[in-house]
Amino acid sequence: MSARWLRARRVVLPDGERPAAVRIENGRIAAVEPFGIGGTDLGDLVLLPGLVDTHVHVNEPGRTQWEGFATATRAAAAGGVTTILDMPLNSVPPTVSVAALAEKRRAAAGRCHVDVGFWGGAVPDHLAELPALHEAGVFGFKCFLVDSGVPEFPPLTPDQLDAALRTVAAQFLVHAEDPAELGAAPRSRRYADFLASRPPAAESRAIATLVDAARRTGARVHVLHLSSSDGLAVVAGARRAGVHVTAETCPHYLTLTAADVPDGGTEYKCCPPIRDAADQEALWAGLASGVLDCVVSDHSPCPPALKCPDTGDFGGAWGGIASLQLTLPLVWTGARARGHGLADVVRWLAERPAALAGLRRKGAIAVGRDADLVAFAPDETFVVDPARLHHRHPVTPYAGRTLSGVVHRVWLRGEPTGTPQGELLTRGAA
Ligand SMILES: [Zn+2]
Repeated sequence: MSARWLRARRVVLPDGERPAAVRIENGRIAAVEPFGIGGTDLGDLVLLPGLVDTHVHVNEPGRTQWEGFATATRAAAAGGVTTILDMPLNSVPPTVSVAALAEKRRAAAGRCHVDVGFWGGAVPDHLAELPALHEAGVFGFKCFLVDSGVPEFPPLTPDQLDAALRTVAAQFLVHAEDPAELGAAPRSRRYADFLASRPPAAESRAIATLVDAARRTGARVHVLHLSSSDGLAVVAGARRAGVHVTAETCPHYLTLTAADVPDGGTEYKCCPPIRDAADQEALWAGLASGVLDCVVSDHSPCPPALKCPDTGDFGGAWGGIASLQLTLPLVWTGARARGHGLADVVRWLAERPAALAGLRRKGAIAVGRDADLVAFAPDETFVVDPARLHHRHPVTPYAGRTLSGVVHRVWLRGEPTGTPQGELLTRGAA
């Protein structure tokens, strides 16, 4: 591929936004120079680094009827996400051994429209395999402290969590809800019943358990999909005390509240649940202050029937929201309404997730990085039409919402997306 220049009056660079020309050579960013130097002019579009989504459930192999590499990565590319990290569960087998990772890679090979890496899973019967799995190239490990929703991925006890953190020096990601604080899943169409069964105390207590384990072991731990003001307070306190803990939240917690959820509206079901407006504003404040590092989709689809649309039963419905394609406009719409700029959004959706995973070539427009780029129209609006979503099942709580920000063009390592040109990433080599 020949070298060329892209230029825009607004380019979001690590030190802020300014006019610039970006030279692309052999799939990498070779130079960032003043705008006047020339090249293809993107006009009013803003040039952003490709986004990095470190929390995606692709579900292939084994539950490919839920989602798969081809459909998930096409949705990612359409949304300006050029790198995803696949979660170890909901596929069968789950990614808890070197052999399972090899199966994952075979299933993904040749199907991905964006670059794809893999997290491993820490489950009770496979803790001895963590070092070998880490060595085989997973970016770190996910575990649960509560039932995961699928039987082949059981949770760790607090003792097993300690053991896992001591077994390998890696990034650990934790689904933080404490089973002792959870009620039984209600057989109910009322969202209030579901919400009451998974209170903020379940999240804050599990995070406290995790923080204690991190303090004892010195491990790097990350709180997945933070949903509550109470949970955020525990993370903030741990950070002030010098514990190495990071945290993420998701578009649904930032853009939806319990008041938006109609009874029987199981397309809104996720765990932990969407809470009230005060929790939502606390999460935005956490992003602004830096206590929250990043925003990732937790894209977790299922076949429509598993959302129990006929009964609207929140207890029986699969918990998960598919939003890989919509993360950028969802977060941008909420961010701009609160006075944040695109540089903030890029920090939360690209730079910090890349840092979490140790992806040194991703997440920024800077010399030496991969030329993963997005031309974005921040002032254009659109109405979410499920028929335009590329993930396998167009079930979404966002249908009919008007959002700001349209992705116009996306490049992966310098090439326009649209073909299965994605690479499979390995820890340390990306
Ligand atoms: Zn998840």
